[in-house]
Amino acid sequence: MCALQKQFDFSSKKKVDDFLKSGALPHAIILQGANKTESLSAAGFIAAYAVCTGEDKPCFECSNCVKAFTQNHPDIMWVKGTGTNGRINVSDIRRICGDSYIKPNEADCKVYILEDCELLNTQAQNAFLKSLEEPAGNILYILQCTSAHALLETITSRCISLSISETPDKGSEEKQKAVDKAAEIASALCKNTGYDLMCATYFSGGDRDHYLLILSELKQILVCALLNKTSQSYGAALKNLKKALSKKKLITMISTIDEAIDGMKRNTNINLFSTWLCSTLERIKADNN
Ligand SMILES: [Zn+2]
Repeated sequence: MCALQKQFDFSSKKKVDDFLKSGALPHAIILQGANKTESLSAAGFIAAYAVCTGEDKPCFECSNCVKAFTQNHPDIMWVKGTGTNGRINVSDIRRICGDSYIKPNEADCKVYILEDCELLNTQAQNAFLKSLEEPAGNILYILQCTSAHALLETITSRCISLSISETPDKGSEEKQKAVDKAAEIASALCKNTGYDLMCATYFSGGDRDHYLLILSELKQILVCALLNKTSQSYGAALKNLKKALSKKKLITMISTIDEAIDGMKRNTNINLFSTWLCSTLERIKADNN
């Protein structure tokens, strides 16, 4: 295996390979998964596949591949938002859509990788619709997000979804447990005492994958509260969260959960992790600024 291949030997690679070989490349892919690093590796891999001129794509050898895998390809755009906390806002979307009309430099197509798409607000999503519906020329949009849940149906219906996750699907029972636990943490964030939060964030038993699922659900609740969305799965916890926490606090908490997800992947000690999560969330909650 060459160095470039090694770098992109992420755990869900087989799934991505199967997806790419299953048919023609669509013009828009939603890449969802709890682990952002993993999703971005997959996005980079798909982008290389799209620009590769070799036979067995991605060949890791053609100049397009080498540039793609070293993140130097002029036709692969890693789009970071210019909004608060790096959110992609409506002006970023307009810029991307305008740029998509300019012909590719070296490859046959242009690829735009948009990070954290669950944070796109309705205005930005609506601005994106036309480009998704009638893409200018040979364009591939890759929308990275934790879950497509926060995207408008008009967006998801125009994209092919691919779930990237190291968390195996253990069925709906486990998912429901994670939703309940995440809702418990969200409810505790609305209470005045820190005791509830301490109990809610105390993780005992269960495995790392399950905690990742909880964190991913918690992030979704916070994102839904931030974007003022409704969701039957999160019920009262979501309603209370919208009332109890400012947008600024919600955004800071979402970043904390991202950090927590990364930490959990790095084999952090789970007891220390619970304490860190509880105290960090408590500090954000209590912050008067
Ligand atoms: Zn190649």
